[in-house]
Amino acid sequence: METINKQIDISVIIPIYNEEQIIPELYERLHKTVVQISEHYELIFVNDGSEDYSLLELIKLSEQDERVFYINFSRNFGHQIAVTAGLDACKGKAVVIIDGDLQDPPELITDLYSKHKEGYEVVYAKRAERKGESFFKKSTAKLFYRVLKRITSINIPMDTGDFRLIDQKVVHYLKQMSEQNKFLRGQIAWLGFRQTQVLFNRDKRKYGKTGYSLSKMLHFAMDGITGFSDKPLQLVTKLGFTISFISFLIILYAVYSHFILDRTITGWTSLIISSMFIGGVQLISIGVIGEYISRINKNVLKRPMYIVEKSNIKKSNKTEVKKYVKI
Ligand code: UDP
Ligand code: MG
Repeated sequence: METINKQIDISVIIPIYNEEQIIPELYERLHKTVVQISEHYELIFVNDGSEDYSLLELIKLSEQDERVFYINFSRNFGHQIAVTAGLDACKGKAVVIIDGDLQDPPELITDLYSKHKEGYEVVYAKRAERKGESFFKKSTAKLFYRVLKRITSINIPMDTGDFRLIDQKVVHYLKQMSEQNKFLRGQIAWLGFRQTQVLFNRDKRKYGKTGYSLSKMLHFAMDGITGFSDKPLQLVTKLGFTISFISFLIILYAVYSHFILDRTITGWTSLIISSMFIGGVQLISIGVIGEYISRINKNVLKRPMYIVEKSNIKKSNKTEVKKYVKI
């Protein structure tokens, strides 16, 4: 029957933000690698509000190869949401997430797939070396993952991006995690299953520039922390207790000094130091709480996570996916 022929062995999800120059080479390399695994593949490109001609390139590809699909967002929603849209649409038994700028070599998919065949549901690609990225980016990323490891109880793998292969079963459970602020690498780690890694050297960008501005990076880091740890809130509480305790001792000393020793310390300096210090600590604490509240707010509003302006994917094929996801 036709549906059996149409079963898809592998889906590849590629978020695209201003990558027009690279799309033809990206497709060539992806096709060459994936077709060796199975002819029944699908490439899902998610155009995340690119301002260049990425969409035209994608439409052109989809006309040449019926296994190429595109989802065009109505605006830029961000990398994690672009990948989420791909996950919502994919039908393959194995699903690969890969960056669209060729920093993640498509040829590695062969290795990821063979590990999957050995029985691993999650195979992530770990960066052994990162070429062409600034010292600032590398060191802040390194620091971030080390901090995250310390403050969360789940084992988020170090030095990995979202380049990985996951089983359709994992996709099924990912879709049930309804948080609006996505931190997919954390969510996948949280889900568990058999996980392993493959090492690779990350190339530098060939064309264009990074779509991750500093503010997007900070926001992403905050999503990772707030989504997987309450430690910052506990830290605020501990800080409050510590400062209150120290203040109590200082109060005792001030009262003793005033009434018993009859000696009041004069001076604007001590007053301004203490009030500025407390002011700063309070503002930081409110900020920490605010980060959590803004995420609660986003989840309460429950807006659609993304808006699809145009796509060549036919509406949901859930029954087909259910066939090989045993729940
Ligand atoms: N990207 C996206 N939306 C964005 C920013 C980036 O879909 O708002 C895509 C981008 O096209 C690329 C991937 O996400 O395929 C990784 O982004 P980028 O290379 O800019 O990040 P970096 O490698 O510098 O961390
Ligand atoms: Mg990149």
